[in-house]
Amino acid sequence: MNINENYLNLEQSYLFSTIAKKVIDFSAKNPDKKIIRLGIGDVTLPLCKAVIEALHKAVDEMGVQETFRGYGPEQGYEFLQTAIKKYYLKRNVELNINEIFISDGAKSDLGNILDLFSKENTVLVPDPVYPVYVDTNVMAGRKVIFSNANRENEFLPMPDASQKVDIIYICSPNNPTGAVYSKEQLKKWVDYAKSIKAIILFDAAYECFISDDKLPKSIYEIEGAKECAIEFCSLSKTAGFTGTRCGYTIVPESLDKLNKFWLRRQTTKFNGVPYIIQRAAEAVFSESGQKEIKENIQYYKENAKIISETLDKCGIWYTGGKHSPYIWLKCPNGMSSWEFFDYMLNNIQVVGTPGAGFGKNGEGFFRLTSFGSKENTIEAMERFKKLFKI
Ligand code: PLP
Repeated sequence: MNINENYLNLEQSYLFSTIAKKVIDFSAKNPDKKIIRLGIGDVTLPLCKAVIEALHKAVDEMGVQETFRGYGPEQGYEFLQTAIKKYYLKRNVELNINEIFISDGAKSDLGNILDLFSKENTVLVPDPVYPVYVDTNVMAGRKVIFSNANRENEFLPMPDASQKVDIIYICSPNNPTGAVYSKEQLKKWVDYAKSIKAIILFDAAYECFISDDKLPKSIYEIEGAKECAIEFCSLSKTAGFTGTRCGYTIVPESLDKLNKFWLRRQTTKFNGVPYIIQRAAEAVFSESGQKEIKENIQYYKENAKIISETLDKCGIWYTGGKHSPYIWLKCPNGMSSWEFFDYMLNNIQVVGTPGAGFGKNGEGFFRLTSFGSKENTIEAMERFKKLFKI
């Protein structure tokens, strides 16, 4: 037996465990101090009414002989694929049912899709970004190179013809920076990918936070994207499904072999998302579901506004927060990401995420999220203002 030694090349992920340890140590020494967490990437609002009703109905169906369901289609029930097809049509993106694959979330699909690609491929990943892209490729032994996202390019790196790559990751709106590509910028990526016969893996997990109609929510809004891109979507942040688990991946039929291989891969290694969860997901795309999830997203956006306004007042540079739940700020006074983390924890007991945990270009930056409660966000920002003497 030989193990996959590529696992030895994974960098240990100390980010969230180090944060947790520092918070526990601080609390032990200062039991009377209230800590406010603005670092979480998880939602806090409960599932909306339309989803809960659909869940109850589906659970009842499962207890009745006539409506009980066993194994479903591995790629998802047609009722949910149809709901997603209609959702895309609203943005003038036409999809066939066979191009829509239902899954238990974007993270699994982002990892699993790599089954379709040769180990010899070179991968281009933006830095900083969601760490799963790098780790899943390291596990397979692929070569990963980076495109630098920084203040100069507003955290939106553009294609560099000198980088010879086969697989290109794009995350827009971006985690952790909140930066969003325009249609013109995405067109350049699409043209570049086509010119070098690369594939784009487009992560649209935060598309629902985009509130400007001119900004693309799907890469298929860009001409030519169906010939070079796979899109990953999730109901996690959109509809509070982080614990309920449902997402979907679009593999265009024009990517001939990839669409067929993905179906083959899923039917071989996956047995589908539970019926009740797919009914809940279908409810997200109903009229009432859309209205209710938008109210929840609005709640988080107001938190983001509270944070942004405070940073404006304190004269701290930041980006994001407008079309994203994430606010990405420059640590003041030249502090490193971890120095700023400690400074905030020790002085005002506000916890965020050090940017260095998302890649080398994240050093000196810090991620705050709008997923907390409004009360806590306001209190955290009041403390912030006091610390920065506003
Ligand atoms: N993609 C990005 C950019 C994310 O930030 C996350 C979760 O934080 C995911 C994908 C994973 O989503 P899911 O919960 O659907 O697995």
